[in-house]
Amino acid sequence: MPTDEPAVRYEVDGAVATVTMNRPEVANAQNTAMIDGIDAAFDRADADDAVRVVILAGAGRHFSSGHDLKAIVGAEAPDEWVRMRDTPEGKFRHEQVMYVERCRRIHDFRKPTIAAVQGKCIAAGLMLACMCDLIVAADDASFSNPVLRMSGAGVELLVEPWELGIRKAKEFLLAGAELSAEEACRLGMVNVVVPAADLADRAREMADRVALVPPVTAQVVKDSLNHVGELMGKGASWKYHFMAHQWTHNTATAQAGLRERQQMGSMDEVFAARDRGQPPADSD
Ligand code: ZN
Repeated sequence: MPTDEPAVRYEVDGAVATVTMNRPEVANAQNTAMIDGIDAAFDRADADDAVRVVILAGAGRHFSSGHDLKAIVGAEAPDEWVRMRDTPEGKFRHEQVMYVERCRRIHDFRKPTIAAVQGKCIAAGLMLACMCDLIVAADDASFSNPVLRMSGAGVELLVEPWELGIRKAKEFLLAGAELSAEEACRLGMVNVVVPAADLADRAREMADRVALVPPVTAQVVKDSLNHVGELMGKGASWKYHFMAHQWTHNTATAQAGLRERQQMGSMDEVFAARDRGQPPADSD
C-alpha cells in the first residue's frame, strides 16, 4: 500500500533516540526502505553526542512480522528483489548486506539499545529485537520463528540458542512453538514484561536509567559483554548458520515452497492445503 509516511521515524528527546518502524499496515514487515531507514536512523544516533541510548520500537499493534515476503515473491516486486529471488548469488549478497551486516551493526552499536516489543514479533522481527541489548516486552507480545515449515533454516542469524538455551531453541524452531512475553522473560530473552498500554513509558524509564551511566563506561561494558558472547562462539556460530541458511534456500524443497506461495498467495494458504493432506508441489 503506497503511503507518504516514512518507513522509519526518528525522534530524539533528551538523551534518548527512538527509532520507530512505521509500516503498521503490514505489521512492520521489513522491506528495503525500512531496513535502510533503520540503518540511517542509527547513523544519526551515532553522530549525535547528546544521544546516549537508542530505543527500537514498532508503530501499531505489532513489533514486526519479519522480512517482507510479499515484496520478495509478489508480482509487484521491484527489480532488485526479483534479481535477489532469482539467483542464489543475488540472494546470498542481498541477505549478507541487508540482513546480516545491518543486524550485526545494531548488535555492535556503540551505544546501548533497547527493543520495545508489542504484539507479534516473528522471524526476522525476532532477529532484529535480539540485536538490542535489552528487551522490554508488552504483556501482549509473542515471539515465534515458524519458518522451518516453510523450509527456511531459521532466519539469517540463529539467535535462539543464545536467547533460550539449546533445548528450548530446538522446541521453538522444530515444533514452531510460540513464546508468550512471560515465558520469554522467564527464559531470559526478555528483561521485563509491562502492561501493553505502558510499553513506551516503561521502555523510556529503562532508557533513562541506562542514560545515567557515563557514555564511555556504557560503551566499554557493552563491548566487554558482547566480547563474552564472542569468546563463547556467537559470531562463529552465526557465520556457520548463515551459510547453512543459504544452502537451504537453494534446495528444491525451498524453491518449490516459494512457487507454491506465489500460486496460492500466502503461506497460510499453503499450510492449510498441507493440513488438508495435499502434499507440497514437487518437493524432494
Ligand atoms: Zn534468508
